[in-house]
Amino acid sequence: MEIKKGIGVSPGISIAKSLIIDSEDYRIPRRLVKPSQRTTEVQRVRNAFKGAIGELTELEAAQDQTEGGKIKDIFAVHLRFLHDRSLRKRMTDLVHAESVTAEYAVSTTLRQIASDFSKVKDAYISERAADIYDIERRLLKQLLGKKREDVEHLTEEVTIVARELSPTQTAGFNRQFVKGLASDAGGRTSHAAIVARSLGIPAVVALEDLTEYVRGGDTVIIDGNRGIVIVNPDDQTVQQYQEYAKEFAELGHRLDAIKDMPAVTRDGTKITLLGNIEFPDEAQQVSERGGQGIGLYRTEFLYLNTESEPTEEDHFKAYAETVDVFADRPVIIRTVDLGADKYTQSKRFAPEPNPFLGLRSIRFCLQNIMMFKTQLRAILRASVLGEVKIMFPLITNLQELMQAKMILRDVMEDLDEESIAYNKDIQIGIMVETPSAALIAYSLARDVDFFSLGTNDLTQYTLAVDRGNELVSALYSSADPAVLRLIRTVIQDAHKAQIDVHVCGEMASEPEYIMLLLGIGVRTISLTPPMIPEIKQIIRSVTMEDCNNLARKVLGMNSERQISSYLRNATRKILPEAF
Ligand code: PEP
Ligand code: MG
Repeated sequence: MEIKKGIGVSPGISIAKSLIIDSEDYRIPRRLVKPSQRTTEVQRVRNAFKGAIGELTELEAAQDQTEGGKIKDIFAVHLRFLHDRSLRKRMTDLVHAESVTAEYAVSTTLRQIASDFSKVKDAYISERAADIYDIERRLLKQLLGKKREDVEHLTEEVTIVARELSPTQTAGFNRQFVKGLASDAGGRTSHAAIVARSLGIPAVVALEDLTEYVRGGDTVIIDGNRGIVIVNPDDQTVQQYQEYAKEFAELGHRLDAIKDMPAVTRDGTKITLLGNIEFPDEAQQVSERGGQGIGLYRTEFLYLNTESEPTEEDHFKAYAETVDVFADRPVIIRTVDLGADKYTQSKRFAPEPNPFLGLRSIRFCLQNIMMFKTQLRAILRASVLGEVKIMFPLITNLQELMQAKMILRDVMEDLDEESIAYNKDIQIGIMVETPSAALIAYSLARDVDFFSLGTNDLTQYTLAVDRGNELVSALYSSADPAVLRLIRTVIQDAHKAQIDVHVCGEMASEPEYIMLLLGIGVRTISLTPPMIPEIKQIIRSVTMEDCNNLARKVLGMNSERQISSYLRNATRKILPEAF
């Protein structure tokens, strides 16, 4: 039995056999094998070459000479690489010398060659790096193909164990069979974690080296509440966790009872609870859990499961489906937040060196105007179906906001010319999720109808801590006094400008922050659907006087540790089961 501690990012308990997956988008972990297994790994390298050569030969033969035989030529070049004995020898030597797996030997050798190629000044040679990555993918498919297929055709319940999970992979998991998730990498607000929470799959991340301890088929317990993973538990531990799972389910049933009650404090202050969604079918879940609309629709997920760009109709259909659930309630559609850990890196020939500070979000849209306009047209068309609002993500300065609004006006004019109906008074808001936006909130407030505090990115950028990097996860905390000061500034500036201010980052889904948020003036929060009942229960258990006192106290504290433990203790008194 092995017990590992990580970060619980999606609550709940699961007990199931493990299925280990590797992703072609990420580095293959350096896994060691016993010296006696080296011959097997060497044979696996050889078989992978044999399989890849067979596959490519067939593909090459199937190509005719159209387009000047270009595709045929590319396959021929790949085949020449694969027939190169010295290349295979480099890999098998590595297996022998370092006792690593076939996957690792293939991946590191080819990535080294690709990296050497890409540094060559000659464009023809540097562009060959892409071919090498393609060959790597083909060989890894031979080595990992079966496991991947297993994920797509599950027939029994599993716990997925991976070095790192992408939001795309996570979103594609079959909810019926994937009972738990565990990964070496990741953080509380990494997008794969957010997706796991939305899907209601218990998950623990930042386990650092879990993949070295688990073999496919091991029994694994995921305790998403406490951030614990247990590999091959003994009978007593399994029994204890079956009990925990029962208690957790009972809490769920108890909270279901308040589904239709209002989110109001004991002294009568009404709070609006909205839901965060990634896919239109989650809107129904928001409604069933007692949410009063959609506060954040992460529309970039429309791009994550397709090879081609979504059309205007694809966008429109998704928005219409969402609005249909909440026709007379707000539905805030955030324009695509692509980039960073979402979608664009794997599509790029060379990944950005620093993607979270790179071409992401509104910056990506402002450089891809046709794509941006397609989405804006669809949102505007959907605006006649209900109370649709537009929200721009990652605004860092006034100019960006002005540019985005100008493009929106252009799209409105196009629709006017085509006599297509839309709501001319559609509300426009921005995510405040960078320190620069928070510091100029007073000025941005003049040009928008509402702010939504994206505390996930705001915390990341304020503290200079990558939200998905397990090595610095202990430094990532929205309870840091610097983050709280910025949040308070934004709320005060919004109130002065008399515009709405919401919180839609994960802070709003975490029980310990609710009293604080209410105490600093927040009246609308948008959160992950499964947490709506629990958060409502907290709201219904407190008075505004409690919340104001707590906020005053906390804002006077100057250490994250002190603040975190104070908030936890205060919340534990109200809802002990939350911890
Ligand atoms: C945030 O940054 O807080 C947010 C809600 O946006 P996302 O998590 O999609 O980056
Ligand atoms: Mg964000």
